[in-house]
Amino acid sequence: MKIRVVARNSRLSLAQAQEVMAKIKGVDWKLIPLASYGDKHLEIPLTENTMPDFFTKELDEAILNDEADIAIHSAKDVPYPLPQGLELVALTECLANADVLVSRRKEKLSQLKPGAKIACSSPSRQEQIRQLRPDLEIVDIRGTIDQRLARVFNGEIDALVVAECALKRLELEEFIAETLPIKTHPLQGHLAVVARVGNAQMKSLFYPLDIRKNYGKVYLVGFGPGNPDLLTLRALQAIDEADIIFYDDLLDASFLLNVEAELVYVGKRRDKHAFEQDEINEMIYRAAIAGKQVVRLKGGDPMIFGRGGEEYDFLASKFVQVEIIPGITSALAAAATQAIPLTRRELARSVSFCTAHDPNHLPIPNTDTIVYYMGAHNAPIIAQKLIESGKKTDTTVIIVESAGSENERSINTTLQNLASGSLTVNSPALIIVGEHINPTNNATPSKQNKILVTSSSTKPYEHLGKVIHKPLIQIKEVDPNEQLLQIIHKADQYNWLIFTSRWSVVHFLSLLNKVKKDIRIFAKAQIIAIGKNTASVLEKYHLHADWIASDESSSGIIDLFMNHSLVGKNVFIPHSNLSPNTMPNLLRKMGYQVDTLVVYENVLPENVQPVDLSEIDIIAFGSPSGVKNFKKIYKSIPAHIQVIAKGDVTKNALYEQGLLPFDDWVI
Ligand code: SAH
Repeated sequence: MKIRVVARNSRLSLAQAQEVMAKIKGVDWKLIPLASYGDKHLEIPLTENTMPDFFTKELDEAILNDEADIAIHSAKDVPYPLPQGLELVALTECLANADVLVSRRKEKLSQLKPGAKIACSSPSRQEQIRQLRPDLEIVDIRGTIDQRLARVFNGEIDALVVAECALKRLELEEFIAETLPIKTHPLQGHLAVVARVGNAQMKSLFYPLDIRKNYGKVYLVGFGPGNPDLLTLRALQAIDEADIIFYDDLLDASFLLNVEAELVYVGKRRDKHAFEQDEINEMIYRAAIAGKQVVRLKGGDPMIFGRGGEEYDFLASKFVQVEIIPGITSALAAAATQAIPLTRRELARSVSFCTAHDPNHLPIPNTDTIVYYMGAHNAPIIAQKLIESGKKTDTTVIIVESAGSENERSINTTLQNLASGSLTVNSPALIIVGEHINPTNNATPSKQNKILVTSSSTKPYEHLGKVIHKPLIQIKEVDPNEQLLQIIHKADQYNWLIFTSRWSVVHFLSLLNKVKKDIRIFAKAQIIAIGKNTASVLEKYHLHADWIASDESSSGIIDLFMNHSLVGKNVFIPHSNLSPNTMPNLLRKMGYQVDTLVVYENVLPENVQPVDLSEIDIIAFGSPSGVKNFKKIYKSIPAHIQVIAKGDVTKNALYEQGLLPFDDWVI
């Protein structure tokens, strides 16, 4: 079989076709040169061209008409989306991505005389050259590379900006005066092989050339309104598997503390650098082509006022695979938490989601319910406009701030009242307008206590009300060290292994595993677990505690040793960097030989976003380190809050840190 290859009829294009086909061994092929619309219309400057398929249309049509099997294009000329019926079968490796300068006497850009004529074909090149040398005369240029070079050497123009890859392909590199510091199209230097959709033969033939197999995939993921409870399973899976996550505001970043991926904040909050959309696109693209699995995490749903479409197009037009994972948009979260029916049988039969970003162009669709996003700062104007448009002044408006988060607040009012400007609306907020949006049976959910849990587990507190989980400790395993090896060396001499917490179990066993050992090396030791939780974690590893001591204080373990006259003197205790020495020291006083080892560290998580404590009713502390970190972040506990502390050690820490006066009480 002879493969029919179309390319443009220029020397460069033919060289490109040769370059690709030379890499496909053992096939016969014939070249069909064709002039594209752009080749036939040299009078149209690229600065004015608006046809996306200026250089490709005729070639692609040849494939669709079955006059050719493949077309070989400069990748940056390929239109997005590709014409129906065609697909890319290979994107080749980049030959060179830079733009270079050609000038008559090899002057560099800085050496060109003021007013010198410099030719560039594309608007982006012209703009960047203007930035670098505003004093030059910039002119349009078209035609083949040979024709363009001729204009430099015959004196018509003084210099020319051209793609390095083009000169290389035509073996004209000796004319390069310098490589220019300008930004080029990401696909410049790559070639694209296009075939008819589903042409498996072409696909497998060109697959070895296709660099996309080394690209990572990008997931545009909706995080929901802020609370990770509302993430989809698919989103969780993508987050788990990601190498890198780009995230922005409107989501609970503390959730990300436990993910393994590299985290890049690209939001616009506070003093942090605000990234432009272009920069964000570029970073995501770079990560994907470097082979990383990328998650772009967005508040709510990516396709609702989330610029998901732009990011999708940017990546897809550069042949990066993108998958969109929907999220719960904030309007739906607000409807759920506030029990607002956005539709109601026979009464409210339509709902629309609108932006109020520009109140002068406020969309007022003719639907029974309207939800406005981005309207917090202009709420009164929005209400006025709605009244002017003919909505009744007593139409119900429910404003929901921070839906789904611990700071959620709602305001139930009317258009008239909102228009008066007397209400304060805090961002982020949704403004929901409609005659039938009042909650079913006026049953606004009854007020529950809000309980802020600062420790890693929320289970013990869930019965008390609505749990807001902001862990203030992060557990980090340490690396195996010399001390661990010493313990292992004498492991068979220990009579007692004391696990002080579930983390000491998890991390000690994991450390052993890292050095290819397991619990059997403690052949003679009996196991003591402090607290039932610790014992139940041991059971997960099929280890049974011989003794379980109370976890209220270190006296539990001392009692155990005193009351049961435990024999055997050698004790080993894996614990954390913050574990107090009280218990080991008491045991030493009793004549035991005690070794300890730090197997995990308790650290303050990065990026903790403090919760608004005025909205909180109860705070739960699980450990002294949580207390210390609380003090660092919140400084004090407001008087209206009740405090729960686990065990005496944690209670004492609260007093020591001055967080509670002595006469106050702890549950
Ligand atoms: N993609 C997001 C919307 C981003 S636009 C989504 O699907 O929800 C930003 C606007 O969304 C904010 O101005 C606000 O109107 C709304 N918004 C986002 N999160 C919110 C929340 N938790 N509570 C109320 N409004 C929220």
